[in-house]
Amino acid sequence: TPRVRFAPSPTGFLHLGGLRTALYNYLFAKQHGGAFILRLEDTDQSRLIPGAADDIEDMLEWAGIPPDESCRRGGDYGPYVQSERLQLYSQAASALLQTGHAYYCFCSNQRLDLLKREAQRSGQVPRYDNRCRELPPEQVQQKLAQGVPCVIRFKLDSGAEVFQDLVFSWTRHNPAAAEGDPVILKADGFPTYHLASVVDDHAMRVSHVLRGSEWLISTAKHLQLFRALRWTPPAYAHLPLLLNRDGTKLSKRQGDIFVQRFREQGVLPETLLDIVTHAGSGFSDNRIGRRLDELVCEFNISKITTHSALLDLDKLDEFSRVHLQHRIEDEERCAVLRDELRQQVLHTHGSRISDRTVLEPHYMQRVLQLRKGHVCSLRELLNDTHTYLWIRPRVTRQQLQEVSAEVDDIAAAVIQLVASGGSFESTEHLNTELRFIASRLKHTKYSGAMRVLRLALSAQQHGPSVAEMMLSLGEQEVCVRLQKALE
Ligand code: GLU
Repeated sequence: TPRVRFAPSPTGFLHLGGLRTALYNYLFAKQHGGAFILRLEDTDQSRLIPGAADDIEDMLEWAGIPPDESCRRGGDYGPYVQSERLQLYSQAASALLQTGHAYYCFCSNQRLDLLKREAQRSGQVPRYDNRCRELPPEQVQQKLAQGVPCVIRFKLDSGAEVFQDLVFSWTRHNPAAAEGDPVILKADGFPTYHLASVVDDHAMRVSHVLRGSEWLISTAKHLQLFRALRWTPPAYAHLPLLLNRDGTKLSKRQGDIFVQRFREQGVLPETLLDIVTHAGSGFSDNRIGRRLDELVCEFNISKITTHSALLDLDKLDEFSRVHLQHRIEDEERCAVLRDELRQQVLHTHGSRISDRTVLEPHYMQRVLQLRKGHVCSLRELLNDTHTYLWIRPRVTRQQLQEVSAEVDDIAAAVIQLVASGGSFESTEHLNTELRFIASRLKHTKYSGAMRVLRLALSAQQHGPSVAEMMLSLGEQEVCVRLQKALE
């Protein structure tokens, strides 16, 4: 069974790009009954952001894709944070030194800077010139004994590496032609990403590496490290970049792509998962509204293409509407929604609610049923358009009379309608009745009558249709409000 890992650096909070990488790993693992590992790659200690590690795992849990193994959850292959695995990396580095695949490098920062500047002056890409490769062993011993600061570098093979990526297919890359020998162990004893990632993928028995395509270029190096250490490498699948709809880089600057931000805005986790998979490939169709269990079933790694995935956040509302509707139609999850809505109503309008029936489950249920497919979030049910649902309007008879002199007739007719029963089944039904009532008025047109009713029921100029308002409020509340208007 496969073992996959999501290996973020805790140098920032989880954003949509990271969520997508994690999700694809999760889908692949669950689809094959495998394990999904969360490994924190914190080897660059200078870039750590406090709270990021917790945020990453919190957000995965919130999204419904928790890891099977992680710092928090434990597992047989821990620790799951690289700073606690330093010994493993130095062991591997020693092994590479011993077999002649790595060497000590004593080049000073000044020398490296000089190399960089020279390269830049001649318009070349800066690269290390591998000078310490050739240091005679006695000199190495001497410098080590003197305590000259040093790093360990990996000797890149001279040839090109050819490998089959599960997404990008046959890929050829010659790292030695493009760069100098990479550092694998830094002067502070911490490994660099390349060594740590290879050591851990081996030690944690990772079978498939699914990661962003920005790492495709590192894979040749990783394969060389695996070979030098005489370990079998995992299979690789590089996921195409996730970009904004216009093809620009996902920006983290405004903070609008952090998972936490969406959560705070009341976006449902399934909405977010759906929209990030929708942006990319990996599925045979492009429908909106897949839940996590459907994503697991329908995900097909061989359907991932190399095209960039374009994220269209303008469609977020559409996705939200569909997923909220699904929740409302699911009895169990709807019960949870009702509770949440009640909390939110109390929080927002609590002090102004005069009649507690609006807080009862049957009332919440009716509102949800009627507004599903129209609203994108529970929060929307608290905005001005929906205030009438929770708070009885304050309208004077005089205000109503200004709209139509026949306000008494209209209200009486509707109260009569309620008393006769049966009409509160559907908006169509109600609309027919309302048209009939309006047709019998002498001086008021249909639109005028609707304006009166809208005002009496909601004190609002805009909002859902009058029939829908009446259905949401329910028979009793409609009568109460109309009667009050007549006082
Ligand atoms: N730590 C790397 C990152 O932040 C992980 C790359 C990989 O998955 O190998 O993206």
